[in-house]
Amino acid sequence: MGKCGKVWLVGAGPGDPGLMTQRGIDVLKVAEVILYDRLVHPAILLNASPDVLWINAGKTPRGRRMEQHEIHRLLISHAAKGKRVVRLKGGDPFIFGRGGEEAEVLAQAKIPFEVIPGVTAGIAGPAYAGIPVTQRGMSTELLFRIGARAEGSVRGRTLVGYMTVEGMGDFLERALDLGFPLSTPAGVIERATTSQQRVITGTIGTLANLAKRKRVSAPAIVVVGTVVSLRNRLRWWEKRVLAGKRIVLTASEALRKGWRECFEDLGAEVWEIPMTHIQPLIPEKAWVQKILKADWLVFTSASAVRFFPQALGDLRKVAGCKIAAVGKGTADVLVAIGLPADWVGQGPGSEKLVQGWPQWAKGRILHITGDAGDDSMIQRFRKRGYQADRIIIYRNQGGRSIPKPVQDALQKEGADWLVFASGTAASRFRRLFPRLKKIRQVVAIGPATARAARNAGWRVSCVAKEPSAQGVLRAMMRAS
Ligand code: SAH
Repeated sequence: MGKCGKVWLVGAGPGDPGLMTQRGIDVLKVAEVILYDRLVHPAILLNASPDVLWINAGKTPRGRRMEQHEIHRLLISHAAKGKRVVRLKGGDPFIFGRGGEEAEVLAQAKIPFEVIPGVTAGIAGPAYAGIPVTQRGMSTELLFRIGARAEGSVRGRTLVGYMTVEGMGDFLERALDLGFPLSTPAGVIERATTSQQRVITGTIGTLANLAKRKRVSAPAIVVVGTVVSLRNRLRWWEKRVLAGKRIVLTASEALRKGWRECFEDLGAEVWEIPMTHIQPLIPEKAWVQKILKADWLVFTSASAVRFFPQALGDLRKVAGCKIAAVGKGTADVLVAIGLPADWVGQGPGSEKLVQGWPQWAKGRILHITGDAGDDSMIQRFRKRGYQADRIIIYRNQGGRSIPKPVQDALQKEGADWLVFASGTAASRFRRLFPRLKKIRQVVAIGPATARAARNAGWRVSCVAKEPSAQGVLRAMMRAS
């Protein structure tokens, strides 16, 4: 995040907390300020971090209704201070929820914002009551309308068309019958909300021709009404750096934590296809014997660190050992389990670790590792005259099988970026997809992974300088 914060206008759904979107919950988790409405189900708020600043936008401390301009002021002032602000509304934020006004104010104040739609009460309520709001042979139109008292002086209307790519001309002509003037703004959104979203706008008079010329194809949604002109000011989707990009993440479940959110935050469409599944092994007596004999314990993966306390049973058993980490990433996880490293290498790779091994680090070395790698590190140590051994405390299995439709889609449409966070993932992915044509770029988490990926036949376009989601992102930005 830069200096300026951001506001997410989020739909909390109609009530049932399970009807809130995944994306909505993701941003709720990282929000620093949350302005919520009366209609938001309290159980949803449990997703937020404990130190978030709560603002009840339904009520002022004196028990009055909070004025809309006060809500605007709060949104702007917190975002301007660099905060991540969530404006949480019942149902969908753009359906009778004044979300559009809030977006306009933010656009005017040049505060970046995003909209996360919600399931609107007008569809969910009937659905939970067993009432389909449209039904073949019964109803071809659905009308949302606010109660007469809330109407105000303007009576504008919005018409939304489904299944209108073929016959768009007829559809727009019928809008004239409904009383919309020919000059009414109209737009079509193709493959809405996916990385291939495309929006074309015109008027009732021009849209059908425009769409034909630009070869709009199904699925698409048509919108007719003055509201379409708001897009000039409120377009936000295409402003994010990774908007329209499809990214395939192949990292293991343990590693990819927070990665999807990181990329989605910048607008990418993320496909998580883990190539590895990491599982701790049942502890053996021999491990403790080897540990008790060792002077140095060497960790070369975050997974080894995570499974170590469990493998050992009692961390006091390593009181006499020094701890080494291959690089900063592994060292950070060591700190997290309360075993800060005595020496941290320049990472990654065993070659670099052995080369950089300090003179003063004497004694027997024990490599704590998983079953994916070979024993090349201890061989290197032995060549240099050290006593070295290893214990394998976790298994690195292949990822879950990839559903056929996912495989087909990937073959057919490809992706903009393929992200490899380990050499194993690169070679396994190659085995699964020997001929994947439409991959535009490949990024590796570090030099060792890049090498393994090249060996597996991938054309690597860039390599991260730091082994983290941020590092990968920076490498991608440099390359594009
Ligand atoms: N943005 C909201 C609507 C806000 S207007 C949405 O998309 O759903 C508020 C109105 O929505 C209420 O007066 C009521 O008519 C309807 N509503 C919202 N939640 C509801 C629920 N759980 N059950 C029934 N009606 C609901």
